[in-house]
Amino acid sequence: MLVTRREMTSSRLREFGTTIFAEMTALAQRCEAVNLGQGFPDTDGPASLLAAARQAIDAGANQYPPLAGVPELRLAISHQRASRYQTEYCPDSEVAVTAGATEAVAAALLGLCEPGDEVVLFEPYYDAYAAAIAMAGAVRVPVLLRPGRAGVFEFDPAELRSAVTPRTRLILLNSPHNPTGKVFTRAELELIASVCQLHDIVAITDEVYEYLTYDGAEHVPLASLPGMRRRTLAVSSAGKTFSVTGWKVGWACGPEPLVKALLAAKQYLTFAGGTPFQLAVAIGLQQAGAWSAELRARLNQRRDQLRYGLEAIGLPSYPCQGGYFLQADVRRTGFADAISFCRYITEQAGVAAVPSAAFYDRPETGRAIARFAFCKRQEVLAEAVARLATAPWHATSTAC
Ligand code: PMP
Ligand code: GLN
Repeated sequence: MLVTRREMTSSRLREFGTTIFAEMTALAQRCEAVNLGQGFPDTDGPASLLAAARQAIDAGANQYPPLAGVPELRLAISHQRASRYQTEYCPDSEVAVTAGATEAVAAALLGLCEPGDEVVLFEPYYDAYAAAIAMAGAVRVPVLLRPGRAGVFEFDPAELRSAVTPRTRLILLNSPHNPTGKVFTRAELELIASVCQLHDIVAITDEVYEYLTYDGAEHVPLASLPGMRRRTLAVSSAGKTFSVTGWKVGWACGPEPLVKALLAAKQYLTFAGGTPFQLAVAIGLQQAGAWSAELRARLNQRRDQLRYGLEAIGLPSYPCQGGYFLQADVRRTGFADAISFCRYITEQAGVAAVPSAAFYDRPETGRAIARFAFCKRQEVLAEAVARLATAPWHATSTAC
């Protein structure tokens, strides 16, 4: 049989297909739609940060960095975790720089899991987690987040407790959370911490939106709770904090054995990369507080603009306390299903969003929810709402 006629993708990855972000962005481009699907800002990060990367290139920082990252950045990360969260990490042995948070999570899972190990995570979840768990030969065990009081997503503590079995290796937590906009409360984190401690489980925390919280919600790293530093790998990234998603500079901090396990996998994935960007982020992190305060204020305003705009045209959204996504319920438009809704608005109204069903193991639960990114310029959001306002919801979809 011809090689090309066989299924080439391994059975571990077959179920994942193309990511929803690539799919919706391609459709958005074909339809010349305003892209509120994929979450990336449409303005550049701070000019002096961009200049620092250019200067690093000009100064010749163009060869491989060390496996764990340039010392300047590891030191800056260690200072940031200490000053912001009072959690100390040795820059030489407890910090690893990665190709974005995505590689940090994937390398941690590959480095820590045995085949068949179980990974507990909250559903809906960022789609890369499921694929990385599968690549590690591990099994995902989702715990459902459902809209609770005032529409804020919550989990049932009993469901979390019963998700843990003797095969559970770790809990993968994302807060502030994509796609729900939930910021886990201290009480919720204490409960998660108690489960980790009771069952001797490791935690990986994806904190890429650590600076982007609103309405007084506070980001509390799980590692900062008593007894958790020694069993947690805290992951973050420059992409969201500095609006440089294409730089792919991420990192993980944790006790040496966890960082070593991550590096054991990472050295055979990318090894290391992005030297000039790492050096620029090292400088940027020293000013992250001031820069992110400005970004947070701007995003807060954008969130409200989109929220009110969507609500006025029959798309009420769930509360968003962090990150840069709004989840809207599409049922008032007459669509029961956000997959056809998203396709319809991209093709017919020229506005792209992502169906949240893509973030669920049980897509039925997120069936009526569409995710809109609000990390866009004011005029872009206004244009999106104006386009949606003129869409005849009842018309049937035809391809562009
Ligand atoms: N984690 C979450 C929760 C995300 O939303 C994203 C995408 N922005 C990432 C990780 C990816 O981060 P990076 O681009 O640094 O790999
Ligand atoms: N994190 C971004 C989002 O949730 C997209 C990242 C990607 O395209 N893989 O939209």
